[in-house]
Amino acid sequence: MNTLSCRSSLFTCVLGALILCPGASALAQNPPPPDHPAVTVRGQTYTPRSILARNMGSEADRVTQFTPHKIIGNIYYVGTVTLSSFLITTPEGHILIDSTYERGVPAIAKSVADLGFKFSDIKILLGNHAHGDHQEGDALVKQMTGAQVMAMAEDVPLLQAMKPGGKEHPIDKVLRDGDKVTLGGTTLVAHLTAGHTPGCTTWTTTAQEGGKTYNVMIGCSLRSPATPTPAQVEALNRSFKTVRALPCDVQLGDHGAQYNMQEKFAKLKAGGANPFIDPASCTLEADVQEAMFQAILAEQQKAARP
Ligand SMILES: [Zn+2]
Repeated sequence: MNTLSCRSSLFTCVLGALILCPGASALAQNPPPPDHPAVTVRGQTYTPRSILARNMGSEADRVTQFTPHKIIGNIYYVGTVTLSSFLITTPEGHILIDSTYERGVPAIAKSVADLGFKFSDIKILLGNHAHGDHQEGDALVKQMTGAQVMAMAEDVPLLQAMKPGGKEHPIDKVLRDGDKVTLGGTTLVAHLTAGHTPGCTTWTTTAQEGGKTYNVMIGCSLRSPATPTPAQVEALNRSFKTVRALPCDVQLGDHGAQYNMQEKFAKLKAGGANPFIDPASCTLEADVQEAMFQAILAEQQKAARP
């Protein structure tokens, strides 16, 4: 895995290999993941290659600011075109989920400022999972804000190996499945949804809008590795069940494509009902990834037959 890790950072999420890959500009030169199996979910066909392309976009997409916007209540999108970062504001300072690549941090800081908040008011930094496209920037955010960095125990080893420019990965508090993180009246619950990484964390919280309370789920990737190990198979089977049982009115994800962010943002700009309140789409990403996971397992079993 080590030989792979630094020449294939595009495949971070496919191979689970990327930890230490600063400067991933060579991504596009790497061979793409397999274009099979193909699965069709709710009328749309996906392959591992199309899912990766959908999630990552171009090198520019990964670091270019996307118009920052309010999602619901005190939850805002401050990520890049394809890599999510969420700001949760409170009267006692803010929580940031996902720093993205270190080189994406300036775009995030600009988005926070563009919304009228202070980046230096971020008190807690959380993450979805220990891959560079989501958490490589943690040390820089910590440097810029002094935020307390919290991470799911099972992802700590991968995070500790993530040292952009030689910076130690900060971890101030280790979390366990079901732990709560509270700041200024907002509580987030950490749900272990392992498989894509050992500590992949789905966050849930609630948000108020129009006098109503809505359940918000910030999903972690459920994408199967290209050749899942028995432990990953078991973890993913458990995680699909966990995610489907979580209360959800607003589903978000660590890549905007996991919740059709750009399409919903276009609707937001057009006015009308909040497009992010969309319970019907809450399990769409799980449906896509579970169908792909089953298809990958079926292919493996077929190949293993004499
Ligand atoms: Zn990933």
